[in-house]
Parts: sequence; C-alpha cells; structure tokens
Amino acid sequence: LLQLTRKLIEIRSVLLSVDQSDALKLPSIVVIGSQSSGKSSVLEAIVGHEFLPKGNNMVTRRPIELTLIHTPPSTASSSTTPIEYGTFPNMPQMGKITSFSSIQKVLTELNLSVPPELAVSDDPIHLQIHSPNVPDLTLIDLPGYIQLSSMDQPEELKDKISTLCDKYIREPNIILAVCAADVDLANSPALRASRRVDPLGTRTIGVVTKMDLVRPELGAQIIRGERYPLHLGYVGVVCKAPPSGGAAGVFRSFRGDKDQPGNVTGAVLKREEEFFGGDNARWFKSQGRLGAEKGLLVGTDTLRKRLMEVLETSMSGSLHGITNAVQLELEEASYQFKVQYNDRRITSESYVAETVDALKARFKEYTQQFTKPAVRAKLKGMLDERLMDILEQLYWNDPRTPELSRLGEDRKLTPDDLDAYWKYKLETASSLLTKSGVGRDSTALVADGLRGLIDSIATGEPFTFHPSAAERIVEFSHAILRERMGVTADQVENCIKPYKYEVEVDDREWAQGRERAEVKFGEEIERCETKLAEIRKRVGGSRRMGGLVGHVAELEKWEEERRRRRMASLTRRDEGDGEQDMDQEEGSTPLDAYKYSSAQIIDGRHALLLSNRLALLKMRQHALKSRRCKIGPDESAFCPEAFLSVVADKLAYTSTMFINIELLEQFFYQFPREIDSRILYDLDREEIKRFARENPKIRHHLELQERKDKLEQSDASLAHTAGQVSGRISRAKAL
Ligand code: GDP
Repeated sequence: LLQLTRKLIEIRSVLLSVDQSDALKLPSIVVIGSQSSGKSSVLEAIVGHEFLPKGNNMVTRRPIELTLIHTPPSTASSSTTPIEYGTFPNMPQMGKITSFSSIQKVLTELNLSVPPELAVSDDPIHLQIHSPNVPDLTLIDLPGYIQLSSMDQPEELKDKISTLCDKYIREPNIILAVCAADVDLANSPALRASRRVDPLGTRTIGVVTKMDLVRPELGAQIIRGERYPLHLGYVGVVCKAPPSGGAAGVFRSFRGDKDQPGNVTGAVLKREEEFFGGDNARWFKSQGRLGAEKGLLVGTDTLRKRLMEVLETSMSGSLHGITNAVQLELEEASYQFKVQYNDRRITSESYVAETVDALKARFKEYTQQFTKPAVRAKLKGMLDERLMDILEQLYWNDPRTPELSRLGEDRKLTPDDLDAYWKYKLETASSLLTKSGVGRDSTALVADGLRGLIDSIATGEPFTFHPSAAERIVEFSHAILRERMGVTADQVENCIKPYKYEVEVDDREWAQGRERAEVKFGEEIERCETKLAEIRKRVGGSRRMGGLVGHVAELEKWEEERRRRRMASLTRRDEGDGEQDMDQEEGSTPLDAYKYSSAQIIDGRHALLLSNRLALLKMRQHALKSRRCKIGPDESAFCPEAFLSVVADKLAYTSTMFINIELLEQFFYQFPREIDSRILYDLDREEIKRFARENPKIRHHLELQERKDKLEQSDASLAHTAGQVSGRISRAKAL
C-alpha cells in the first residue's frame, strides 16, 4: 500500500499551517447539510465514536477540521501509546485524549466560546483522531444550514452560515452533501449549495441519511440519483435508531457491549445490516443484474471506502498543481530569507538568551553610575542642602549673626571668651544634621536611583515588546530593594551614631570643610544675585529698583510700627482703656502708598529680603576667609559653616560605605541571578516561543524562516510521493 492519502494529508496539514491561501490547499472533504439532516451521526459513524457537540441550540458554531489518521493495530498495540486517541494540534498542552466524551466536552466548550453576537466564527478547530478503526481522511464539519428562521435564530444567522459554508465548498474541496431520505431532495440546502459551485456534480458526493424512515423502494430510487444526478453518486446510510428506540438509545446500549466498548460502529452496522440486508436487499441491487458490487451504494462502510477513493483520486489529481505552487512559494520565501536576513537562522531560545545577556550587560553598564565616589557625591549633595537649611534657620534668620562676624574679627578674643549662646547654637546645628534621619534618607536616595535605573531598562527596547517580562523585572528588583532597605537604613543609622555625640575634626578635614563651605557660600551668593537681577529687570533698572526697595523698607517699618501700636492698644484695652485712638490709627497710610502695583510691592519685598540675605551671606563668606577661620577646628564656634561642612562630609562618607555593602553589593549580586531564575529558566518551551514572538522583528524573522522550512519539507515530501505514484504507474504498465 502506498498510503498516498496519508502522506498527502500530512503535507496538507503542514501547508495549512504555512498559510491559508487557496493556492497551497490540498483537497479535503467538506460536510454540509441542514440542521438535523443527520450530519453529526454520519461523521460519528465514520469515526466510530460519539464525539461531536450535542444540543438543540446551534452546537456547531465553528468549522471542525477533522483529520483521521489510521494507525495499524499491530504497531499501536505493541507500543505504549494508546490505541485510539484525539489531539488538538493547536492546543498541544492537552496531549493525547483517549476519552471521546472528553473530546466532546472540549469541542462543546470551543464552540460555545464563540461570542453570542457573532453566532458563528470561521476560525476552525483542528482535531486529529488516531485509530486503527478510521481510514486516512480529512473532513471538515460545518454548522448546519438553518431551514426555518425562528426567534433565536434570526435571518442574519442564516446568511452567516451560508457565507461560511461557501468559503469551504470552493475548489479543490470535495463536498459531502448530507440529505435526509424523508425530506424531498429538491428542498435540500446542501444540494442547492453544491449545485451553485459544482454545477456538473463532479466533486460532490450525496449522502442520504435516515433511509430507514422511507420505504426501501423509495430509498433506492433516491440514491439512484436520477432526479439530481451526481458524478460521484449517492450513498444511502442508516446511522441512528428511529426515535422509538429512545433518544440515541441504541448507541448507548451498544456502549456496554463487550466487543465494542464505547464505540458506535457496531450499532450502526447492525442497524444497516437489518435495513439493507434481508428482504430489503433486493431493492438495492441493480435491477436486472446480479452481484452486490454492481448494486447501489449503501452503508457506512461503503461510504468510508467511497470517501477514501474519492479523496485519493482528488489528491493525486492535485499533486502536480500543488507541487508547482509549493515550489513557487518556496523560491519566494528563500529569496526573502536571503535578502532580509542573509540566511541567518534564529530560534526563540537563542532570542531569549540574547535578550537576557543584553539585559545583564546593560545593567552592568548602568551600575557604573553607582561607584562609591558617585554615591558619595549624591549623598553629599543631599546633606549639603540640609546643611544650608539648618544654617538659614539657625544663623541667617538670627539678627545676632552679624555680631558673631564682628566678634570673629577681634583677634584678642579666644573661643572661650565667646558667649555660651554661640556654642549652644553650634551644638544644636550639628545635632539637627546628625539626627535628621540620615540612614533612612540616604538609603532611600540610593534605592530610588536603582529603581530609576531598572525602570529605564524595563521601559526600553526590547522590553517595550515584552510588557509582562518588564513587569516581572520591575517587580523582583523592587522586592530585592524592599528587602534590603530596612536593614541598610538601620545599619547606616547605627554607624553614624557616634557623630550624634561628638565629631572629632582634624586640621586637614577642617581645611577642606572650610574651603567647601566657602564654595557653597559663593554658590548661594550667586543664586541670590541672579534672582535679584531678575527682579531688577522686571522692575525696570537699578534706579527704579532702589526706589521700590526704599519704599518697601518704609512700608515694612510702618507696618511694624502699626503692629506694635496695635499690640499696645490691645493690652491697654484689656486693662480697660478706650478704643478711639486705635480707630484713628487705622486711617493713616504711609507715603507713596499708591505709587506701586501690588505685584511690584511683592517684587520689592522679595528684593529687600534677598539683599538683606546677600549682605549676610557676604559677611559670613568674609568670615570664612578670615584668618580666624583658617586657624583650625578649635575655632568652630566662630565658623559654624566650616564645622558643619565637615560633619556633612563625614556623614556622607560613612553612609556611602554601608550603603555600598548592604544595598548596592547585594543588589548587584542578586539582580543578574534573579534575571536567570525568573526569566531564563522560568519559561517553558511554549512561553519561550510566545516571548520571542512578542517582538515583531523576531516574529517576522521566525515566521519567514518557519515558512521556508515547511515549504522545503512539503516540497521534499511531494517529490517523494510523486515518485512513488509514477513508479506505480510504470509498474502497472509493465504488467
Ligand atoms: P445534524 O443536526 O445534522 O448533525 O443531525 P444529527 O446527526 O444530530 O441527527 C438529527 C436527528 O436525526 C437525531 O435525532 C438522530 O437520532 C436522527 N437520525 C440521524 N440519523 C438517523 C438515521 O439514519 N435514521 C433515523 N431514524 N434517525 C436518524
């Protein structure tokens, strides 16, 4: 046996997965018929099992591409694989299903998954059945034609089903038109549809079901096909017991039969034997001639044989055309593969591995931003800002601060001569700085930096194509950070603890701290000057600015005076004095009150503030540059800025050291390992495939490569099959 059909069926499946274009289609048998014509019963009789969805309300909503694969009983029983089973090639995870009622359940679910507003879908369900009891065949089951539209089956649905069937009954497919014997063939929608696309009936087989429901002579007349001739003829079958036998009663009863467990073939054969044999037999033999082989085609078994013959003939007829079409497509695919990818082959696995490598490399590159000096500079920035805030709060806003500068210039004074006020202030400033939550804040600052780094990796290519992987990266990196942050913050806080009590400063540290403070003051002065210049420009030059500031100063003095008087008056009132003098005050206004707009007044107040601040800053900068401050750490109370700068530097240094050990080192160690375990090793084959295909560039590459491979494979199989066919022909000629 050549098993030509078998091979072509295999090629057909491969080509179907290449694309759905008609050019690459090998024929299949398409089963059409109206609802309740007995379509399902015929298919189940061919397969030998009940496996199709059952129910009253449109249970077939998607085409079922059924591929039957004959497994020789000998090989099947000798191996460990089950003898009979079904697979859903598009859902490989379901494996081999040996229970036909499970197959039925899956099919029912897949059909019911079509949204109600669509009613039918042209997305086919692929099902393969392997069994020693089936022939090699491909059959496509389609939704039944609706005869009468009812409330829940509107006219529109009728058209939808017709359109769907029309798509499948095109060439080169063979049409299996199912009609019930008890319904006039003239009314058969299946025959009518076939007539439209195959007017000569060259690729249509008629199946007349329910032969038991009509008198045998009428049945015979129908399948003789004189009224509606079909080149491939009609086959008469009896696939189910009449209703009197109970709903599917015979099928069920035969399930219990020891010889035919869970299979309907026995039931059908028995029914058919009863009906076409015995007394009735004479009607189905060709009149005038003897011998059943010359008779009419009846019975499921005959139908199967007929289908095999027709499919084989049709497939070998398509062989030449399909071979040419495949070669053409292959040439094109090979050309494209060469041009677009220079014949470079990839796999989903290699893509995943490359992506992970690239991710690690990028991570490593980015971590350069987290060297110790870089982290220290960052923390220093944060602490310097904090330091300036403390200085502002404790010194710049203190009207006594100019006094400190004056005292510093008096060379005769020693730090011991200084008022305790200043020593106490310095202690306060230092402890504000050391107790400001440095552990928590510095850790958070670095962790935020790491988070930003990961986020920028996760939102860049190629992770834009892999949102769920990106999400996973972000998730596990955050988890690492969360886990490390508490420990790190505590550790840092612990290590800076000594500074909360005492900060020892040596001469070198002092000199550096003093210089840094000087620079900081320089920057602050510049900032103030820039702002002042902006206001000056807005107001319209130095002269006008002078006027405005003068006015605002007047105004503030007047406001101050008024406030003072009001307070005094309130006190007097409390003591029982009159209120008149206060009311009188209310009316008086300062000079030039209406010369400036309120926006200008705001600018003026701001400018006044800035120039006062500027004067102070310059005074302190001058102090920092003074001989006194250059002496050394003993002069701290005179030069709090230098001292605090040293404190900030020590805090930054210590924090960096421990953040580096507890957070960065740990993170840099764990992150690449997590990538391996959560991405590289965590994906199964299917997930790897899906992951690679999320990237459109890779998907295109893989698809083209796959297409080329499949076409190559089909081309080789076709050549092989064609060789066998011509061998057979030449052998036949030689005989
Ligand atoms: P479908 O809707 O075209 O798939 O038709 P079914 O296969 O579900 O059959 C419709 C009804 O006809 C069911 O009640 C079957 O039991 C019944 N039926 C199918 N084939 C035969 C047959 O050969 N003889 C009789 N008497 N009833 C049948």
